[in-house]
Amino acid sequence: MIDNKYAAVIVGFGGMGNWHREILADFENIFCAGTFDISLDRQEVASQLGLHAFASLNEVLEDEKIDIIVIATPNDVHKEIALKAMNAGKNVVCEKPVTLSSKDLQDMIDCANKNEVMFTVHQNRRWDEDFLTMKRIYDEGVLGEIFNIESRVHGSRGIPGDWRGTKEQGGGMILDWGVHILDQILLMVPEKVKSVYAKLYHVTNEEVDDGFKIILTFEFGKTALMEVGTSNFISLPRWYMQGINGTAVIDDFGCTGKIVNIQNYEKREVIPVKTAAGLTKTMAPRTDDTISEGTLSVVNADIHDFYKNVAAYIAGNVDHTFVKHNELLRCMKLMEAVFESDLKNQVVLFE
Ligand code: NAD
Repeated sequence: MIDNKYAAVIVGFGGMGNWHREILADFENIFCAGTFDISLDRQEVASQLGLHAFASLNEVLEDEKIDIIVIATPNDVHKEIALKAMNAGKNVVCEKPVTLSSKDLQDMIDCANKNEVMFTVHQNRRWDEDFLTMKRIYDEGVLGEIFNIESRVHGSRGIPGDWRGTKEQGGGMILDWGVHILDQILLMVPEKVKSVYAKLYHVTNEEVDDGFKIILTFEFGKTALMEVGTSNFISLPRWYMQGINGTAVIDDFGCTGKIVNIQNYEKREVIPVKTAAGLTKTMAPRTDDTISEGTLSVVNADIHDFYKNVAAYIAGNVDHTFVKHNELLRCMKLMEAVFESDLKNQVVLFE
């Protein structure tokens, strides 16, 4: 601690490391006491920002005033740094994906328990307003019983040309965006996942997946389709959810979207409509008197809650971190089932 504030050091001061610096600047009881990066350029950037650039990880870990290590390096070195930090008695906030396998994650959890330190992961997309808005629609039963949820993140720039494109460093979209959208769906649907089917794509990169489709089937039959694409020049909506009484759509991270509910079940009889080459009753559009259309009531969120919880946990004011070890393990095991399903081209039974 320095001046009664928790002192955090950011290890790996690239894009996301700097993001942590910016968010910590908004806090009064926790602050960024410096950085360590293996790149001299990034050390220089840190110095120019007025931060203390530690000369080595050991120097950080030997400094008794440092309370928290924030790990924002490429994915393959999270485990090694986290173990060293926790064995030195430091609390750890690790970037996602926490590591590359459930076995490695178990080692990290065991290390946290042995040293009685905080170990949590920045699964920050739990605070996405589009997710929280869809979760509220789910929780409030606005659509009646839900039978299908679709969650998509589409871009068109391929996989970035840095470490994200290499298997050795834990690249690929399952480990990048997959962890976020799987984490969200596991929080939304409080049921066991019975089975997983996944197809990974390699449009711009042979070594790691640059997109995927996953279908989860839950205990009571509902399905979730999850997609990430990096070669999607036209994006599909961020969320699409179907219940027996209606459908909700959220187009983008900005939460534009709508809900359509059925109003009059009796008016099911329809006059067939003519399409170019035929007649259809099934697909005849609904008439306005049988449905109602509503706007979304957006749930507001504040990502500062993540570090507020971290500080409260270290102070002993709350008994758990928001992102819990059992949730991390479940999500990591699910990602392993996704890889297995793709490899075997088979449905994999899960829980
Ligand atoms: P980046 O390449 O911009 O930065 C990584 C930095 O780590 C680099 O400066 C590199 O020099 C440094 N580094 C590499 N090995 C190191 C080591 N052994 N010790 C110290 N420094 C080391 O990558 P990024 O986009 O900032 O991603 C970093 C992490 O953050 C990844 O785990 C990534 O998945 C995660 N991330 C999370 C989010 C999110 O929203 N939660 C968003 C982007 C990235």
